[in-house]
Amino acid sequence: MRLAQEAHEAIRPTDVRHQASEIGDQLGAEEKKVYELVWRQAVASQMLPAVYEQVSADIKAGVYGLRATGSKLIFDGWERLNKSEEARSLPELKEKEKLTLMELVPSQHFTEPPARYTEATLIKKLEEEGIGRPSTYAPIISTIQGRGYVSLEGRALKPEDAGVIVNDKILVPYFPDVVDLSFTAKMEESFDEIARGEKNWVELIRGFYGPFAQELEKAEESIDKSSMTTIAETDEKCPDSGHPLVIKFGRYGRFYSCTGFPDCKYARPYIEKIGMNCPDCKEGEVIIKRTKRGKSFYGCSRYPNCKWASWKDPRNPEKGKE
Ligand SMILES: [Zn+2]
Ligand SMILES: [Zn+2]
Repeated sequence: MRLAQEAHEAIRPTDVRHQASEIGDQLGAEEKKVYELVWRQAVASQMLPAVYEQVSADIKAGVYGLRATGSKLIFDGWERLNKSEEARSLPELKEKEKLTLMELVPSQHFTEPPARYTEATLIKKLEEEGIGRPSTYAPIISTIQGRGYVSLEGRALKPEDAGVIVNDKILVPYFPDVVDLSFTAKMEESFDEIARGEKNWVELIRGFYGPFAQELEKAEESIDKSSMTTIAETDEKCPDSGHPLVIKFGRYGRFYSCTGFPDCKYARPYIEKIGMNCPDCKEGEVIIKRTKRGKSFYGCSRYPNCKWASWKDPRNPEKGKE
């Protein structure tokens, strides 16, 4: 956190008296919004903290003790500019006051699994862990998408086959240091030290590269390329040789392959249907396809006769929207 901030110079208005509302007509609509954001943040950072009064009430209901908490804004401070979420306030209460039960709402809560990272939450996580620097956040985010390791589903980053294979089957078992958060964070710190002239880069790189070259050699020897790309086993037998079929990940996405390979060359495309007819030709079925980079999209099974394709899930077109 500290170092990420260190490398990051704040953006601020050159003259605080220039408000977006006044100079807005000299800017485009987008620029005006950005300027407004920068101005607010810069000015808010110079204002006093907001003050809240925390209120909690213990309420007796038969044998049960209930507690309600709320907060009341006493002084708005910087929140006058950047309004945070509406504070939940309690109504005025007196001690020993009798309350009336208006409604009893039985409800069950489930703990949600953690949400997928978005680009924004991933950058926040990188910052927390001390990985990357403001100048490298954007390239990191675009590289993992460009190589097809993850793809965007709405705002969420969804792991793709290539990402799962590279991470689970190569990086984690063969290059534990490279995917170790504290190792990487320490490396970043060392780079900062080199940049400040406090550390010798040759020594650092030698210290890293020696063990890394060994790991690389070991990985090259022991990685079995054909098992590496196997995504799932199936109950199906090969129609040619009788060996079990597996689903593999290749240059053009997923396909069925025979475990008798290379003696048996049987293979056929893996078609993932979503149980819906093509919205365009109404004849074909919607199938999940993948680009060369491994990013999934929706297409028609009658391709190339029907060219319908979409990034968004046609079953739930709202979901993919920004
Ligand atoms: Zn076969
Ligand atoms: Zn179609």
